[in-house]
Amino acid sequence: VSDVGIVGLGLIGGSLARDLAAAGRRVVATDRSGAAVAQARGKGIVATELDPDEPPPLVVLAVPVRATPDWIRRLAGSTRPDLVVTDTGSTKRSILDAARGAGLDGFVGSHPVAGSHESGWDASRTGLFRGADVWICPGRDSAPGSIDAVERLWRDVGGRPRRIDAGEHDRLLARCSHLPQLVATALGTALSRLGLPPEALGPGGRDTTRLAASDAAMWTDILLDNADEVRPAIEALADALEELDSAITDGDEQRLRALLAGAREWKAGPS
Ligand code: NAP
Repeated sequence: VSDVGIVGLGLIGGSLARDLAAAGRRVVATDRSGAAVAQARGKGIVATELDPDEPPPLVVLAVPVRATPDWIRRLAGSTRPDLVVTDTGSTKRSILDAARGAGLDGFVGSHPVAGSHESGWDASRTGLFRGADVWICPGRDSAPGSIDAVERLWRDVGGRPRRIDAGEHDRLLARCSHLPQLVATALGTALSRLGLPPEALGPGGRDTTRLAASDAAMWTDILLDNADEVRPAIEALADALEELDSAITDGDEQRLRALLAGAREWKAGPS
């Protein structure tokens, strides 16, 4: 069983390193500050520092979305001809474009649908990917062997690989992940401006603001990178808020009740 390389030992990269090491894989890794690699080596999770000029056969990039293309270009210049590289980024089109531009034929995009609002090595844990869907976005030129290797990696840590086109992925995630993040951020912003501390919230308020605690740097990257898909989603939300506002302003009980009941029916699903 060959070595696996990981770039970025934060929540996602650190959790992957823990599971792979537990499964008996030899993990080599690198991190911006070096602090996480030192800790992971101390625990026997990482064997040694990854050398980007002489990488192992499979490398996972677990850095923020907008730091990923630089690493793709860096690895495209390595001496290994059969190198397979994947990432974990929450958007896929720009990353696949970067791989195509760099001529990295062994690149296959990944996005594990697992994680939390916490970040960094200290938040990483074993079992994070168990039972999680992992979106797989092969490049136009990805060799079947590269796709198999990446899918096998995720299965080895309990993930469920699902193939999807990068454009379809970015549209879907704009709606089901990026919009909920924006709602929590907007809610946190509004409550803060209204002078309300988080301790004042009840269970419902705590639930709906959980994502307000997400990492600001990571989400800045995601939202700017996927701006063309995120903006129509924001418009749909703004329309819904405006409709609620006007129903309340007009004292239009029927309209307000219909809006509340419509969302309730959506949440309950088809009966
Ligand atoms: P994280 O905990 O903040 O870890 C990011 C890692 O990347 C850290 O090792 C960090 O090093 C390093 N890094 C940060 N900026 C960098 C830069 N400019 N160049 C090189 N390395 C840099 O983030 P994460 O949650 O693991 O996310 C990693 C990737 O997975 C992101 O692309 C994210 O979109 C994606 N993802 C996240 C989640 C989630 O729920 N968190 C879920 C699915 C996918 P330092 O420690 O030195 O800053």
